[in-house]
Amino acid sequence: NGLKKYFPIKGGVLGRTVGEVKAVDDVSFTVFEGEILGIVGESGCGKSTTGKAILRLIEPTAGEVKFEDQDITHINAEEMRKLRRDMQIIFQDPYASLNPRHTVEKIIGEPLLIHGMNHAKERKSRVKELLEVVGLSAYHASRYPHQFSGGQRQRIGIARALANNPKLIICDEPVSALDVSVQAQILNLMEALRDEFNLTYIFIAHDLSVVKHISDRVGVMYLGRMVELTSKDKLYDEAKHPYTQALLSAVPDPDPDIEKERVILKGDVPSPADPPTGCAFHTRCPMAMDICKTVRPAFLPVEDNHFVACHLYDGQQQNISHYQLNK
Ligand code: SF4
Ligand code: MG
Repeated sequence: NGLKKYFPIKGGVLGRTVGEVKAVDDVSFTVFEGEILGIVGESGCGKSTTGKAILRLIEPTAGEVKFEDQDITHINAEEMRKLRRDMQIIFQDPYASLNPRHTVEKIIGEPLLIHGMNHAKERKSRVKELLEVVGLSAYHASRYPHQFSGGQRQRIGIARALANNPKLIICDEPVSALDVSVQAQILNLMEALRDEFNLTYIFIAHDLSVVKHISDRVGVMYLGRMVELTSKDKLYDEAKHPYTQALLSAVPDPDPDIEKERVILKGDVPSPADPPTGCAFHTRCPMAMDICKTVRPAFLPVEDNHFVACHLYDGQQQNISHYQLNK
């Protein structure tokens, strides 16, 4: 609720703080148990930072993170360590996140050891079980990360995340670095695992076509803000925010008879160190009005389960925040 993460910009010979990057700027949303919430946006929109701030891998500048009704924003490192059993993360680049000098057995066994599985034999059998769950085999346990393909390495990353039976997994672009043919296999695996172990995912991607397959709801971020959030079907069929509409127009339609008019946005994404006033999207928005330059639009529902931050819907929105709605 109201999550913010500002990074200081250091400059000059004295390394003083000369400004700040508003990587995440007042973002509120709820993730329901058992759902897959997709979060989409271009690089630099703050989606990874949001994911890391939720897990307190980076400290939020302001706002509140609740996990199962517990406010975890300010709990100490020891309490957070215990909670990490329940909250895991899978990274984009499985190679960078796996220690190249450790065997798969050691990599997957490490979180087990951290959380008290002290007997080597017990760990070994749990590692074997986890390898099978992700579609690898026990004989892979003695190998090293470089002996695997990209897709297999992501399976190892998933096995490690599953080791302690988590409830929530933040998936930070888990398939972006993989070949398209392998992406589908990993997405199918992740979906099957969600069903089998009743997991909840926050699934971060830069591409609307990736989250379309897997998400129950999708949130769209732009320059540190959530601009739209609704069910997958509504987002793909009735997107309300001009930025979402532009992103969707760039996704090729599988039906060749449907010709889409592609919305070309002018200019590049502005720097989060100096975001535009008012609606951060106003410098590129084809629908921008005068008010958009000065007044930041509130993130409010236009109808049940459909949040949007845009002045085009002023007067249609119910004055109830996402936080109030789900408290
Ligand atoms: Fe465009 Fe204005 Fe809506 Fe922002 S608030 S998306 S600039 S119409
Ligand atoms: Mg990222």
